Amino acid sequence: MNTKTLLQIAEDFGSPVYVYESDKIISQYKRLTAAFNKVKQVKINYAVKALSNISVLKLMHTLGAGLDTVSIQEVKLGLSAGFSADKIIYTPNGVSLEEIEIAAKLGVQINIDNLSILEQFGTKYPKIPVCIRINPHVMAGGNTNISVGHIDSKFGISIHQIPHILRIVENTNMNINGIHMHTGSDILDIDVFLYASEILFETAKHFKNLEFIDFGSGFKVPYKKGDIETNIEEFGEKLTNRFNEFCKEYGKELTLAFEPGKFLVSEAGYFLTKVNVVKQTTSTVFAQVDSGFNHLIRPMLYGSQHEIENISNPKGRERFYSVVGYICETDTFANNRRISEITEGDILAFKNAGAYCFTMASNYNSRYRPAEVLWHNNKAHLIRKRETFDDIMRNQIEIDMSTKEKSNSK
Ligand SMILES: *Cc1c(COP(=O)(O)O)cnc(C)c1O
Repeated sequence: MNTKTLLQIAEDFGSPVYVYESDKIISQYKRLTAAFNKVKQVKINYAVKALSNISVLKLMHTLGAGLDTVSIQEVKLGLSAGFSADKIIYTPNGVSLEEIEIAAKLGVQINIDNLSILEQFGTKYPKIPVCIRINPHVMAGGNTNISVGHIDSKFGISIHQIPHILRIVENTNMNINGIHMHTGSDILDIDVFLYASEILFETAKHFKNLEFIDFGSGFKVPYKKGDIETNIEEFGEKLTNRFNEFCKEYGKELTLAFEPGKFLVSEAGYFLTKVNVVKQTTSTVFAQVDSGFNHLIRPMLYGSQHEIENISNPKGRERFYSVVGYICETDTFANNRRISEITEGDILAFKNAGAYCFTMASNYNSRYRPAEVLWHNNKAHLIRKRETFDDIMRNQIEIDMSTKEKSNSK
């Protein structure tokens, strides 16, 4: 998006504000589907937790995407956005059997990631098709160096426990219709991903009634210069060949599924903040913005480096700044970063603010969560109002503190 449009949005909607560009989401979606256009049946299930605004979900719906959900609330959001239940996969971790039963009753695809629930669910509902989440124990070490590890991950059922899975399936006579993996950020490059895929294929051979294989996500997008970006086109070509080969071997045309979050929405997002104070200390120039990790926690939580541009002075002379927030806690967004000269009142735009930014925002310091704006068809649409004091008070219950004497007298 151009800086003039972003500045106008900050002016019209106030700051801080999240802005998402629908064209970027659409082009990323098209890139991904184009990379796999030689597979007969492909399903892209957008990972709701990355950015769960209902207007964004509706945009995904118009593109033809399905949804990947991790809570019953996300399932309900998806249904509210107009997705039919059969377009939603529910991939929770560590939730109760009761929650899974509610999801099953709503008709979404169940994905189970532990043996205990698999046995309980299979015993109670042998007819409801279930996908199994496998942990292939693959992670990247160094560049293309593949190491087998992450034995301690809480996600998925270990491939070493396949004999136990098979026993449960046989005993309960349950119907396994999909195999899934999502190794998240462990997998950085294509070769490692393909290596993990081989493990998934091997696993798939044990199940006769599969309809799909879900390869999860973990696609990388660049945050700063020099960052690794998954080469989707190359990856598409390689996995397509291997997948089609496997389908022949398996004797059935399976659906290839993915569930990207970050890849689809990260680069579409901008977080606009206003500089309240420029503060010079003995060694540092701080630019303090009207936000903090209450609104964007990724830099503090993961050390993520979001690029920051001074859109009020994009062509200015560059100087070194530490960009920090306004909450009473260390909330550093960027350390010693070159940014065009900053004056108090300037608007700073944080890039890659589409995924895991608003959805992780909180009310810490009793601050309001920001507004969200979708730039769609050349127009700014408010898709979430900025919170107000009523939102801070909502659900709080004031008890009567004047009853102390009465209770004492009992
Ligand atoms: C979070 C999540 C995703 C999305 O991961 P990205 O890195 O955002 O693409 C996909 N699948 C599952 C099961 C997830 O929990």
